[in-house]
Amino acid sequence: MAVRIQSKPSFFWQGILILLPVVLMACFGFWAILHERNSVEQDARQRANEIIQSLPNDFGRLAANGLVSTDASKNGWFGYLQWALAAWPDDKTRKQLVNNTNEVADITREARVLHEMFPDWTNGAPPIVDFRLSTNGNVDGLRRIPPSPPDWLASLSTEQHEAWAGLVAADYANAPLTNIIALAAAFERTEPAESAKINARFIRLRAESRSLPATNSISLLFRFAGSHYDVESESGLPLGTLALAEALKRSRECGPTKRLWEALRSEVVDPGIFAPSLLNNAANLAANNPQLSEGIRAMRILMDDKQMQRDLADAVKQSGSVNGITTTNVWVDAMGRRWFCILQPEASGGGTIISNKPVHWTTIFTEVSCYPESLVVKAFQGALRDSSVSLPGYFKIAIRLEGQRIALSPKIPQGDVLAQRQFQMISVGEGLNPMTGQESNKPFDDMPSHPRFTVSVILANRPLLYARQRQLQLIFGSLIGLSTISALIGFFAALRSFRRQHQLNEMKSNFVSSVSHELRAPIASVRLMAENLERGKIAESEKQNDYFRFIVQECRRLSSLIENVLDFSRIEQNRKQYDFEPTDLAALAQTTVKLMEPSAAERGVRLAFQAGLAPEKCEPNLDGRAIQQALVNLLDNAVKHSPKGATVEIGLKSEGGAIELFVKDSGPGIPREEHEKIFERFYRRGSELRRETQGVGIGLSIVKHIVEAHGGKIFVKSEIGKGSRFVIELPVKNQHE
Ligand code: ADP
Repeated sequence: MAVRIQSKPSFFWQGILILLPVVLMACFGFWAILHERNSVEQDARQRANEIIQSLPNDFGRLAANGLVSTDASKNGWFGYLQWALAAWPDDKTRKQLVNNTNEVADITREARVLHEMFPDWTNGAPPIVDFRLSTNGNVDGLRRIPPSPPDWLASLSTEQHEAWAGLVAADYANAPLTNIIALAAAFERTEPAESAKINARFIRLRAESRSLPATNSISLLFRFAGSHYDVESESGLPLGTLALAEALKRSRECGPTKRLWEALRSEVVDPGIFAPSLLNNAANLAANNPQLSEGIRAMRILMDDKQMQRDLADAVKQSGSVNGITTTNVWVDAMGRRWFCILQPEASGGGTIISNKPVHWTTIFTEVSCYPESLVVKAFQGALRDSSVSLPGYFKIAIRLEGQRIALSPKIPQGDVLAQRQFQMISVGEGLNPMTGQESNKPFDDMPSHPRFTVSVILANRPLLYARQRQLQLIFGSLIGLSTISALIGFFAALRSFRRQHQLNEMKSNFVSSVSHELRAPIASVRLMAENLERGKIAESEKQNDYFRFIVQECRRLSSLIENVLDFSRIEQNRKQYDFEPTDLAALAQTTVKLMEPSAAERGVRLAFQAGLAPEKCEPNLDGRAIQQALVNLLDNAVKHSPKGATVEIGLKSEGGAIELFVKDSGPGIPREEHEKIFERFYRRGSELRRETQGVGIGLSIVKHIVEAHGGKIFVKSEIGKGSRFVIELPVKNQHE
């Protein structure tokens, strides 16, 4: 048989073929995932743009509408406070308004609207404030607080000043009336300015009035104040206010009057520094009169509104944006809130005839409308609602009004701005003023600078945007991971089987050379002996007998080897057949031992058989020839590996429902890690060159096949230097089964 030794094959290309598709797939997968991420971001930008573009063009008008929606309610309600509730009970206008049920229903509704709009507003005036700012920075129509000393006081000469101080000191010390009259006359004689004279007269009148009955005194005071209301007193307060204070004092004696009430009402329209205490005094007077008490409450609200105008005017001034006429809209902090103030320059003019000449006048001022931040937020929320903007969860809308971010939700969203659009609050003309019945023309008409704002779409929740993509990523990632793992497993399995195959091939070629070797030597010696015998070269009959015995033995050995090889080939091709029949195992074992004894003896090894089983138990169903072959192989190995003079024990015993057939030698033993391997085909211990025993490496694999075909087991118990004990364990099968 010719054996072709191949050069060592390589696994390189197979490995590449297995791994390359996976590597390519993984690269493509990662590329696709990255690409997908970019396109998700691009889609988001596009979507954000669509959302921004879907906002109506008049979004600015919607927002403006929302902002001024409460103006009319406030104006209506304030008109009612001023003309109805704050007026004297028998006032005609008051009666008309209070008795008109429609009017009352309207006003109740307005008040409810205001309360809904400003939930944190509990008393005082609602937080929407309008006023006019004069070019000098004061609120138009409101006096300054604190008041400044009058011009006439500064213009007094020393002599006049002394006379004035004397009069004031006497008045302060409640001096007798005659003194005061004299001092007032003395002051007037110094010829001071007209306003100073009027002040002196007022002091005298007030002193005189104290000796009159209350009602007379009050009408005297009001008559005087009526003609000199705007003349400033020494403290800068109008004489009207001082007269009112005195009248209030005297009213304790006679109760409130219509005149007093009207004076109070004009005081709160332009409240001075004493207005709150005047109102407190009036409240005491009116304590028992529900209508008047209601009037005081109304007046307090009106006064509160004026105070807010003053505070906001100060804040607007401090913002530094008002410089003469201004068109800048500003955010200011006042009264614990943040306000958005819209500043609109206005001019009002008129004409009159003075001394037969037409005189024209023009006043320039700034109309200021202030709205609290909460209302601004509501206005934009409403505008967004009306524009039916639908946002995916990862987007949020952000609005910046004149540079200030509007808190549309409690948590201000953070994130990249994906799209932005500019708007302006523009003219609104809707809503009727309930008092005038005319359309209220609110701030943004013809404004030089409409409040500007930007609407942005913000990517507020990035993880949510990428959630779907991440899911795909996860699925693809795991697929790639799994296929990589399975490709690697495949790769290593192929590599392993490649190596095994390679090893097997090597073992096979070793096997072939072993078989050839095993055959060549005995055949040569048998041929030589047979030739010698034939030629009659061997004369002595004893030697002839030796030759014959040797020839027979070698032939037996050869046929047993050939039998093994043939059997092995049958096993490999799955053609090996077994004929099971009840067999006397003990007898079979004994015969086999007998058969093997001569060759063992030749090697100086003794075979000792001990049948340890009752005869009836030793007749299981088995293929006698095959079992004998197995036993021959075991005995052959045992003899081969035993030293000269040793004994090989063969025995049978019954062990836990099975029959054990064992062969025990005192050879070199087999290390534990090879107990399994020796049963593999072609496996031989040690290296080819150093091997001392004959053999081809298939004996034990045939034994294993035979034993397993009988449903049994073969194993070895052995240690280096302690001999080996091969055990065949056969299940007990009764012949009747
Ligand atoms: P071989 O033809 O080489 O004997 P086997 O399949 O019968 O092939 O045995 C396989 C290997 O097991 C042998 O090469 C030998 O190294 C080892 N072996 C078998 N029987 C024994 C034994 N009784 N004592 C020591 N080693 C043994």
